[in-house]
Amino acid sequence: MSRANPYLVSRLQGYTGTIFSEMSALAVATGSINLGQGFPDSDGPDLIKRAAMRAIEAGHNQYPPGIGIVELREAISAHQSRFRALDFDPATEVLVTAGATEAIAASLLALCEVGDEVIMFEPYYDAYAACTAMAGARRSVVPLRSPDWSFDPATLEAAVSDRTRLVLVNTPHNPTGKVFSRAELEVIAELCRRHDLLAVTDEVYEHLVYDAPHVSLASLPGMADRTVTISSAAKTFSFTGWKIGWACAQPDLLAAVRAAKQFLTYVNGGPFQYAIAEGLERCDEYVVEAAATLREKRDLLADGLAGAGFEVFASPGTFFLTTDISTLTDEDSYNFCRALPERCGVVAIPSSDFYDDPDAGRHLVRWMFSKRREVLEEAVARLARLRV
Ligand code: PMP
Ligand code: GLN
Repeated sequence: MSRANPYLVSRLQGYTGTIFSEMSALAVATGSINLGQGFPDSDGPDLIKRAAMRAIEAGHNQYPPGIGIVELREAISAHQSRFRALDFDPATEVLVTAGATEAIAASLLALCEVGDEVIMFEPYYDAYAACTAMAGARRSVVPLRSPDWSFDPATLEAAVSDRTRLVLVNTPHNPTGKVFSRAELEVIAELCRRHDLLAVTDEVYEHLVYDAPHVSLASLPGMADRTVTISSAAKTFSFTGWKIGWACAQPDLLAAVRAAKQFLTYVNGGPFQYAIAEGLERCDEYVVEAAATLREKRDLLADGLAGAGFEVFASPGTFFLTTDISTLTDEDSYNFCRALPERCGVVAIPSSDFYDDPDAGRHLVRWMFSKRREVLEEAVARLARLRV
């Protein structure tokens, strides 16, 4: 019998890694269009790339400071103030991490004791369950209900126990594309204040919003002192391989998260930190234009999927669309996605992987639309063949 962490062992059985790497490997093996794993097929701004090359040339190649270089912390702080009206002191309230993934892991490790409970909304990004398990904590899930992925405040209330430590909120939300409204965030904030809970927010898609404004939970009354706000350069600037993320919180919370990061990676991404600092300072216009382009791509893929016979749910944010496949097939989403490359040369992600009970996501499939227009057009043409 394995003596490894049971949650991790259960996830690895039958997988070549996560569902994302399994489906990406399938895309490569079959030469399919990969609308599965969330990475764009074009790089972000040249000026950011050039800044990274300059930083390497300039010799910024040894360990950066544990908290992150001052230029990047100042740029993150200024970005939070410009876009979210949030005030973080770059000296004590901003931490650079190895992507948002490490910020999430470090926050859960830092803030939970063994046996504590973490409330998260389901479907949830896979790392949340894994990191909660690695922290020895338990997850308590609150369902988001299609078609608009709203939650029932009474169910949220019922998820609170005397072991609840924090609420984990992802907005804009992977996999559904939901953007939590201010009213919904107010319900969560009120719960946190009343039960004295912490909050961790994953806002990596903060700039990928199309029909609704992004609101940071930390900006609501009474939340600044109890929230760790996480984001990343990966989606904003289309550099998913650089793994530059950050966490912002009041000094006590941030010091705890920093202590966990210290023993996870210590530091990360030296020269890339300089480049992302420049990106945050100089790329506001790029970010707006990128969202406008992505919105068109979302509409192209949504129309194509609807034309192919799927029920398509509205996606006001992220670069993902969710469909119900039961209009086309009785198969479960995993088997459907496994067979899709053979059938039409396209790869997607079965959303069942984002649920505790795979039956809950049995008919749901996630599609990623940050691909070149001609690639999406070809994918749509291939998907149209499914019906005939
Ligand atoms: N959170 C969510 C919701 C994500 O979809 C992802 C994946 N891109 C991450 C965190 C990880 O971000 P990073 O690549 O910066 O670690
Ligand atoms: N965040 C990306 C997604 O949701 C995948 C990152 C990963 O492979 N872990 O598709």
